[in-house]
Order: sequence, then structure tokens, then C-alpha cells
Amino acid sequence: MKKRYMMPAVHALLLTGCAGSAVEADGSAILSEEIKYVALTFDDGPRSSTTAQLLDGLKEQGAAATFFLVGEEIAGNEELVARMAAEGHQVGNHTWSHMRLEEAAADVVEQEISRTEEAIRSILGGSDYWLRLPYGLLPQHTEHLVQVPLIKWSVDPRDWESRNKDAIVSSVLEQVKNGSIILLHDIYPSSVEAALEIIDRLHAEDYRFVTVEELLRLSGIIPENGVMYRCGG
Ligand SMILES: [Zn+2]
Repeated sequence: MKKRYMMPAVHALLLTGCAGSAVEADGSAILSEEIKYVALTFDDGPRSSTTAQLLDGLKEQGAAATFFLVGEEIAGNEELVARMAAEGHQVGNHTWSHMRLEEAAADVVEQEISRTEEAIRSILGGSDYWLRLPYGLLPQHTEHLVQVPLIKWSVDPRDWESRNKDAIVSSVLEQVKNGSIILLHDIYPSSVEAALEIIDRLHAEDYRFVTVEELLRLSGIIPENGVMYRCGG
């Protein structure tokens, strides 16, 4: 990763496919047909009543995930954040207050990003914390404020809407493919239960669960600051 603040945001927001695009030096695909990789991503936490249970389940099943945290949910849940990193999960930024940013002023966008970044850094130390935008949106005039890779998703079971474990599981299983980034929210018990069942079901189909960072790496993609990634077509 390039150092933060060293380079300006280089691109307008782009959607970049990931899976299957990578080829090793010897010509063999890194993402093979036999082993399939997906990234589970959890937004809007941490929440003490649900995130701890999810972390227990991920540990038991040997699955890595990525958590995009809402800054104002972090106070009081510092141990959960530390546990995420300690157990091999990727931690990212989902803004401070989860407001819609598409009409926000530049200083508000900057604050929404930087406050959460500082809150995470105060627990985990310095690093790049990749960004997922609430509702996936950012005003065009503020794109230059994003100094990290932006991560979207390719599978959205709308778990916040159904709050129904079986509906979430079937929606994901219908859409998932090698290289998918799956969007879930660890603030709902139904989503946590669904995630653990999805892992079970996809393990049986030779899927492996990796962080977004690892998924990009396996796809041969070098993440660039200010570029939006959504894998899996
Ligand atoms: Zn969200």
C-alpha cells in the first residue's frame, strides 16, 4: 500500500472487476476453479450484542471477514475492534455517523472519514483503513478526499430489509460466485446466523473466506487509493 497523504486520489471512482482477472507469471490463474474465494463484509457495527457472537462463529469455522465500522459505534466496543484485528479480520471505515454523503459539504465528508479513522487508529495503531461509503455514494467534488481504496460489493441480500436468516442465506447462495464481495450487517442477529450458515454451506462447495485485501491480492490487483472496487462482476 502506498502511504496515506503521499499521493492524491488518482482516479474518479471506478468499478473494477476482480475475480478471474489474475494470472501468475507462469500463466496459471491465481483464482482457480477448484478453490474459490469470497469476502464476507459486515457493515454498521460494532454492536456488542451481535458482533461478539459473529466473531466466535468466524473463529470456530476458520473464516476471515472484513468489518466496515461506524465511528460512533466504536466507543464501548474497543475490545471487539481489537479482537477483529487480532483474529485476522480486516477492519475498515464506514464513516462516523452513517449519514448520506452525496450532498454533504467537503468538510463534512472529510470529518466523517477522518474521525472514524482516528477512532480505529487509537485502538489498532496506524494503518490504512479502507473505506466503504454509506449507501455507496460520495459527492463528486469530494472524491479527492478519499485517500484509501473504496470497497463496494457484488452480492447484496438486503439483509437489513428481510431480517430473515433463510431469505438471506438463499439470496447469497443464488448470487455468489468466485471472487464475490458479500454485503451483510453484523448488527442484526438474523444476519449473524445467516453468515455462519453461508460459511458452512460454501465451505462444502470449496469456497474459502478471505478479507477484501486478500481477495484483491489473490486477484492480482494492487489496490489504488481513490479507486472503488467491487469484485465478482
Ligand atoms: Zn451501512
